[in-house]
Amino acid sequence: MLFWIIILVIFVLFLAEEIFFTKRLQGKYKQRRKQLLNEYASLNKKESEHKRQVDDLDSILSERFLFYDTARKIAPILDKKELFSVFAEELKYLGHIEKVEIGVSSKKAKGLRFGLGKDSKDILYVETKSKAVAEHIPYFVKLLRLCLERIKLYEQLQQMSIYDSFTKVYTRRYFMLRFLEEFNRAEKFSLNLSFLMLDVDHFKKINDTYGHLVGDAVLREVARLIRENTREIDFVARFGGEEFSVILPETDKAGAIMMAERISSRISRERISVFDEILTVNISVGVSSYPQNSIHSDVLIEVADKALYKAKLSGRNKVCWF
Ligand code: GH3
Ligand code: MG
Ligand code: MG
Repeated sequence: MLFWIIILVIFVLFLAEEIFFTKRLQGKYKQRRKQLLNEYASLNKKESEHKRQVDDLDSILSERFLFYDTARKIAPILDKKELFSVFAEELKYLGHIEKVEIGVSSKKAKGLRFGLGKDSKDILYVETKSKAVAEHIPYFVKLLRLCLERIKLYEQLQQMSIYDSFTKVYTRRYFMLRFLEEFNRAEKFSLNLSFLMLDVDHFKKINDTYGHLVGDAVLREVARLIRENTREIDFVARFGGEEFSVILPETDKAGAIMMAERISSRISRERISVFDEILTVNISVGVSSYPQNSIHSDVLIEVADKALYKAKLSGRNKVCWF
């Protein structure tokens, strides 16, 4: 009997210890589980914090890249209208931009307004609902103002100088002085005088396809070819952007047409090599002559301009006259 009682006591003690042990284990397990859950939550928090930081960096970087890209694209532009249009397109890449407009002050335009310099009446209007984007626009505006300033300085320099250092032909201002001199001489001594107005065909496409630097190089080549295919006594000038003019003293209309055809076909044949590109361009030419077309100097320029327009309308790569 005693034996059984001892066995029972041992069994009860054993059971009690098992229960105690299991309870302790359960307690430890719960504690560990809680600890792991806490660790997991904090890792999750860290991960989302990291993700947020990466996203922030991404957006800062893409803004910087866009800023760099915009600067690279607009810095070489010397034409105000083109500058505005390229800038407006670039700004849209910031995203969340509903509308960009550049023009003189208008009461109708909504959104943010930025003046573009003390001497400029132009105002940039931007509509955006994003506060972050609105905060970045002033940096881009600063860039635009700098480019406008550069265009203004370039125009002033052009006004002051005789030579267009860029294409190595005379400037329009100097051209006008020389044109009047040559005109007076022709009048006084009853000499012939002809005038050519030349314009590169689809030049904008070259800029758009290959970039401004390539466009610039093409322009220099065109100027060189015009110079090389005219006589010592002729006078070559850059009339504006991609437009050139040539005074041909003591030359009648037939001679002027021949010269124009020669310049034009020489330019068309040239394989212009710029960086890795080989390009060909054509020009259109308008011809006018004194005294056949007019006995007034300004009308002579107008007639050449109209003839050039006729050449453009009739398919380009042509020499036209009236
Ligand atoms: P068209 O055959 O009717 O003459 O077409 P186009 O594209 O030649 O004429 P348009 O007037 O539309 O464009 C002329 C372009 O020439 C626009 C202007 O940005 C560009 N341009 C003007 N001056 C320069 C310059 O100094 N360098 C470069 N790369 N481009 C210039
Ligand atoms: Mg052109
Ligand atoms: Mg033109």
